[in-house]
Amino acid sequence: MIRCRDIHKRFGTLEVLRGIDLDIAQGEVAAIVGPSGAGKTTLLQILGTLSQPDGGTVEIAGQTVGSLRAGELVRLRNERIGFVFQFHHLLPEFTALENVMIPALIGRRPRAAAQKRADELLELLGVGHRATHKPAELSGGEQQRVAVARALVNDPAVVFADEPSGNLDSVNREELHRLFFRLRDRFGYTFVIVTHDNDLAAMSDRRIAMRDGLIVSESE
Ligand code: ATP
Repeated sequence: MIRCRDIHKRFGTLEVLRGIDLDIAQGEVAAIVGPSGAGKTTLLQILGTLSQPDGGTVEIAGQTVGSLRAGELVRLRNERIGFVFQFHHLLPEFTALENVMIPALIGRRPRAAAQKRADELLELLGVGHRATHKPAELSGGEQQRVAVARALVNDPAVVFADEPSGNLDSVNREELHRLFFRLRDRFGYTFVIVTHDNDLAAMSDRRIAMRDGLIVSESE
């Protein structure tokens, strides 16, 4: 599903990634852990095609990211990749349902189909009853579930999540983590999650530990 080789990235004189090799299989829940500044977010952004490496190759769902034309890259990002961030980044003026529909509409899915898919996902994620509410009217846990629904609306090959539970209390945090595994078990989604949460890392299929721009250990 994801294959990267010898990824390097620097910001000015700071070498943030110093040769990362990583394979992640379809249906895996992989947690990337490590101290602040280790390069976790930088790696996630490169895997998610949001940022380009200075060296090395990334393959996602059989496509070599560096060889894609601009339009192909946008299509890969929109149709095959979902993102969940620490802060939900929902659009405040739109309802939960509309927020979930937006990536499907950008992907040119007919409005009725986009709405049906968004409705089903909100229901599945336990926030169907909040569909017509705007983000400010939802709790933090509900907002993050809506953000997960949005990430899944185009049925992506992989979901990248950067500290998805970092802003939640412990009850909502555990519920969100369980949700990732439920979605993986039921639909085979692949999750790559940067986290400081030890419980989530322990539950994951893979725990990928980074330090100073390198992967220093992996457990399976
Ligand atoms: P944290 O757990 O604190 O989020 P991290 O392991 O995710 O840390 P990164 O965010 O990948 O670490 O950052 C790695 C290093 O790269 C840090 O020293 C950071 O300051 C630096 N860095 C990240 N992005 C940029 C940027 N756009 N410009 C300059 N330096 C950057």
